[in-house]
Amino acid sequence: MREKYQMFGKLYVVATPIGNLADFTYRAVETLKDVDLIAAEDTRHAKTLLQHYAINKKMVSLHQHNEEKTAPGLIEKMKSGLNIALVSDAGTPLLSDPGMPLVKLARQQGIEVSPIPGACALIAALSVSGLPVTRFTFEGFLPRTSSARKLIFTQKKNDAATWVFYESSHRILASLEDLQEIIAGDRRIALARELTKIYETVVNDTLDNVLEQVKSNGNMQKGEFVVLVEGAVAEKNVSEISEDQKRVLLILLKQCSIKTAVAMAAEITGARKKVLYQSALELKESSAE
Ligand code: SAM
Repeated sequence: MREKYQMFGKLYVVATPIGNLADFTYRAVETLKDVDLIAAEDTRHAKTLLQHYAINKKMVSLHQHNEEKTAPGLIEKMKSGLNIALVSDAGTPLLSDPGMPLVKLARQQGIEVSPIPGACALIAALSVSGLPVTRFTFEGFLPRTSSARKLIFTQKKNDAATWVFYESSHRILASLEDLQEIIAGDRRIALARELTKIYETVVNDTLDNVLEQVKSNGNMQKGEFVVLVEGAVAEKNVSEISEDQKRVLLILLKQCSIKTAVAMAAEITGARKKVLYQSALELKESSAE
């Protein structure tokens, strides 16, 4: 692992399981056995994993309250040739977890930083949610107060990409209730709960229906959650045409077929046919309701 010509040691950012201890890669085990030191978010927590894989290694704690102070000392150790592995309590370090100051400093100081990829709740949830994954935004943990959460929801409301956030059992119900105040209840969301664990549950339904399930079943409020919200493609298209363009389209839709109305509205207003067509479908749909 350590190249002869390399003077500095290396920093390995090692993903650990998010519940099921078997989700630890062969390479992660080899790396932890091979490094000189493990920087762990919680050394007692890491010990359970290390014991499971018969790894006996010196550890140092690196968590959100000491990482700014601890990182420079670890950098010195790597400069003296030691290899260090960074692990958090679950999943991939830095993803809503400690490690950023250490990785940043290591890069600044010319120390090689190498990933040992593995579990990550965000990616695991996306892969099974049934929502579009081509484009997504990750919000990490939402703020604790309802008003701050609603502000984020309002900012993201018309975002076309799927949005994802982490939530704890204490706030899952309150967060979903806040979400219902800001976005339409018929928007699809997915809730990925306790992934890789005994009570793993993944639901994909309208926000109204998911909230109903969470409210009526206490078990659905327990554990760890990833919440995924479908992007607002339809809403975005409607908002892309102006009120004037919409008025013209509405008048034409009353007189002609969608195809003709869209073609004429494009001529009259200069708006793009594709956007007008999407809006026409939505206007027809809402007038039929
Ligand atoms: N670094 C981790 C990762 O790669 O996913 C995330 C750490 S963050 C402190 C912990 C949060 O991740 C939890 O509150 C929950 O929102 C989410 N999470 C972690 N494990 C999970 C699991 N097994 N199922 C669902 N969500 C999980």
